[in-house]
Amino acid sequence: MIRNQELVKDVAEGRIRRLISLAKARTLQQRGSDALSKKYVQIAHNIVSHYKVSAGREMKREACAGCDSVLIPGVNCSVRLASQYGYIVYRCRCGEEKHIRYRESLGPKLLQKKV
Ligand SMILES: [Zn+2]
Repeated sequence: MIRNQELVKDVAEGRIRRLISLAKARTLQQRGSDALSKKYVQIAHNIVSHYKVSAGREMKREACAGCDSVLIPGVNCSVRLASQYGYIVYRCRCGEEKHIRYRESLGPKLLQKKV
């Protein structure tokens, strides 16, 4: 039973990776997000919720939560650094922002010293 669950998890994660790579290729080919690339991401989200597997770092970082498009800098999103807070900001064309921390220990004490 445990082996079967591991197999299902492996297959689901492989399909998620494949769908995200297809969405990336489609977005690059079309120079923007179209309905097919968004559908790939929606199917990947459905697999994550149905099989209760982790979305993976790649999908969490690269898929927009607002419009289900794959974020590719220079194609459909802009990237800037919020260096004061230590994170990268990906801004999708739909207006949704994704903040990814790149500095580990920037607690409230350090922020208070800077102000
Ligand atoms: Zn978006």
